[in-house]
Amino acid sequence: MISFQTFKNNLRQVEGRIETACLSAGRAVGSVQLLPVTKNHPVDGVLYAARAGLLAVGENRVQEAGEKHAMQLADVRWELIGHLQSNKAKDAVAIFDRVQSVDSLKLLNRLNRCAEQAGKTLSILLQCNTGEDPNKHGFYVGDMGGALEAALAAEHLQVDGLMTIAPLDDDLDVAKAAFEGLRDVRDRLSVQYAVPLSELSMGMTGDLEAAIAAGSTQIRVGTALYGARDALRA
Ligand SMILES: *Cc1c(COP(=O)(O)O)cnc(C)c1O
Repeated sequence: MISFQTFKNNLRQVEGRIETACLSAGRAVGSVQLLPVTKNHPVDGVLYAARAGLLAVGENRVQEAGEKHAMQLADVRWELIGHLQSNKAKDAVAIFDRVQSVDSLKLLNRLNRCAEQAGKTLSILLQCNTGEDPNKHGFYVGDMGGALEAALAAEHLQVDGLMTIAPLDDDLDVAKAAFEGLRDVRDRLSVQYAVPLSELSMGMTGDLEAAIAAGSTQIRVGTALYGARDALRA
């Protein structure tokens, strides 16, 4: 695990990238939130983020996040960014403040019931498979309207916006198309259903500039902040 000093240096560099990307897109620097992705790193990653004043962390597995969450070492919000199996929805509702990876109607309905039982309203994002990749999770673009209708009808869910993961590709134009695709879906649905859907969670270490240019409001960054992930924990 890197030292806190190294983390702070990395953070400064990422903040520099965000600033540059915002300036060239003509956007306010404060309009993009940085979500540090602490998955596959020890709990120190969460502590570093909290010490540096970051308010939330992203994790992709319920069990790993649950172990860190239970330590109660840092006052941060927890966001789930990885695929969630319906049978773990109850645990996820107990741990996470927001689930970004809502990718099926079955999961959506399960989360709604679990949130009701827990007596809370759960914030969610709808994950869109903008690349229409059959091996990836997320609603296809054509199914997003139905997914949003279901989310709006779910009394114990609050839908903040949309999330996507760009296809794995060295060609940044592929990522750019995915990000612009998500923004277009959001713009269309937001008018059609008269809801803001203000959060656009898109962009990671390798493609955050393209995401910010396309309108991202939250980038999810692991490697650039914490270095390569520990394969043993992966
Ligand atoms: C791991 C992960 C990230 C962070 O990726 P990096 O390339 O390490 O910045 C972002 N989003 C999701 C959904 C992830 O699973």
